[in-house]
Amino acid sequence: MITDFIKSCYYEILSYFVIEKQEYKIKGECKKCGKCCETIYAAYNYSESEFRIMQKIFPIYKRFYIKGKDEDGNCFFGCKYKDKETNLCVEYGKRPIMCRRYPQKKLSFYAQMPEGCGYYIEKKKFKDYLK
Ligand code: SF4
Ligand code: SF4
Repeated sequence: MITDFIKSCYYEILSYFVIEKQEYKIKGECKKCGKCCETIYAAYNYSESEFRIMQKIFPIYKRFYIKGKDEDGNCFFGCKYKDKETNLCVEYGKRPIMCRRYPQKKLSFYAQMPEGCGYYIEKKKFKDYLK
C-alpha cells in the first residue's frame, strides 16, 4: 500500500516533466463530439490501487473511473460528467485543467486521437530531422 502511494506520487510528479520521445504536432479543430471524454488515457499507466490513491489525493479525479484495459494492458478511463444524451460535459466551465488543455502532447500519450475527432496528429518523420 505504501509502495503504491509512493509510486502514485512519483508518476504524478513525473507526468509534468515527461520527455517526448517523438515530436508531433496537433492540427485541426474541435467538432464538439465528446468522443475524447469517452475513452481517456492517463499520462502513465496507473494500476487500480494507484488510481484510487490518486483520487484521494486529488478529489477532482473522482469523476473518472476505470473503464477497461487495452490489449497492451494500459488502463483507460471514463468520466461521470459526460452527459449520456448530448455527449458533452455537464460541468464544462469547471472541468479539470487536463480537460482544458486537451489535446496536448502529454495527454495524447499514444499520439492517437479518437476516431472522427476534428484534430489530427502530424508526426515528425526521419527526413524532417535531416532538413
Ligand atoms: S474527440 Fe476531438 S472533436 Fe470530439 S470533442 Fe474531443 S477534441 Fe473535440
Ligand atoms: S470533466 Fe468534462 S471535459 Fe473532462 S473528461 Fe469529464 S466530461 Fe470530459
